[in-house]
Amino acid sequence: MGLVGWRGMVGSVLVKRMVDEGDFAHFNPVFFSTSNAGGAAPSLDGVEAETGTLQDAFDVDALAKLPIIVTAQGGGYTSEIYPKLRAAGWQGIWIDAASSLRMEDSSIIVLDPINRDSIDAGLKAGVKEFVGGNCTVSCMLMGLGGLFTRDLVEWGTAMTYQAASGGGAKHMRELLTQFGDIHSAVDSQLADPSAAILDIDRDVLSTQRTGLDTSEFGVPLAGSLIPWIDADLGGGLAKEEWKAGVETNKVLGRGDSLAPGVTSRGERIPFDSLCVRIGALRSHSQALTLKLREDIPVSEIEQIIADGSPWARVVPNEKQPTMDQLTPVAATGGLEIPVGRIRKLEMGPEYISAFTVGDQLLWGAAEPLRRMLLIAIGRL
Ligand code: NAP
Repeated sequence: MGLVGWRGMVGSVLVKRMVDEGDFAHFNPVFFSTSNAGGAAPSLDGVEAETGTLQDAFDVDALAKLPIIVTAQGGGYTSEIYPKLRAAGWQGIWIDAASSLRMEDSSIIVLDPINRDSIDAGLKAGVKEFVGGNCTVSCMLMGLGGLFTRDLVEWGTAMTYQAASGGGAKHMRELLTQFGDIHSAVDSQLADPSAAILDIDRDVLSTQRTGLDTSEFGVPLAGSLIPWIDADLGGGLAKEEWKAGVETNKVLGRGDSLAPGVTSRGERIPFDSLCVRIGALRSHSQALTLKLREDIPVSEIEQIIADGSPWARVVPNEKQPTMDQLTPVAATGGLEIPVGRIRKLEMGPEYISAFTVGDQLLWGAAEPLRRMLLIAIGRL
């Protein structure tokens, strides 16, 4: 198995999960790099790499020798290398974290607790491209999938609160540096209890406006937010918002952009969102409004959500459990997806709210890829 992008945010979480779960017992990894070919391959506890040196991730011949390639390198890499690899006659399985191939009719977006039947049908039909979904979509479906797979959702919206690490390792570093720089700017005033709060506020704002490194995010994120994620698709739509609608439907097998072998489960569910980057480090949160097809009691809705996947966990819609369990700090590092704030809305008995948080590097990125690797070799 070839591994590209193993030292990035997604790649390092993927490798850690594979080590923790003993997955490398089934694979001989060959590590590739776009920046350090010839360097030493990582040494992982109990894992023997096929070669001790990093291979060149742009060497199509080296890649083409492998039956499975997993990449968490990014969309630019996939767009450059994948067509060359196929043009060279490579017949292997490509498992990818990037979005480039997600909406191709030849690919399946993998989230096996929700769409295992599509994955199996695709494998049988010869599909060779398996792509991890958008992190926010995957986390949402791992939490609320029960309502969708039982066809109870007529339409939905997600207002997201997405962590800095969604942009990658460099974005996470930039946010932390910004926090530090802001603190340094008012350090002495904070130590003085009699310092005027409006002076502190003014100095923080001035640092945010003129004194921070914003090379990754483009504008300050620490102590602020950015209500736009990913490219501008025109018409007021951010690419992250477009992904929410199209990917949710593709994972659910709805609509017509489906891979060979996958049967449609019916019409597209209207699903839209407004995506916001916030200063959390890790784990994406989202507030949902769903219109259900029928008036279902809240207790039943909670049961359907809890039954939706073994990882969905309902948090009682009360203040203390919400504060304790429904935050990025509480959810980070765990595979469970807490879902709370479930209540009926004033608009009518079919309208509900929900709030969910998920570690976007686990179910939102690494975990579906790790599991797809095992499915591809018949181990899951
Ligand atoms: P990333 O952290 O930026 O890593 C990507 C590559 O950047 C690494 O493999 C590494 O390649 C290179 N790199 C350069 N400087 C680095 C540094 N200081 N530390 C670590 N790596 C560095 O990107 P990512 O967030 O893992 O995303 C990879 C892909 O997964 C993207 O397509 C992204 O859209 C997708 N994805 C990300 C998330 C998320 O939450 N971050 C979730 C779902 C999907 P070399 O080793 O070859 O130099």
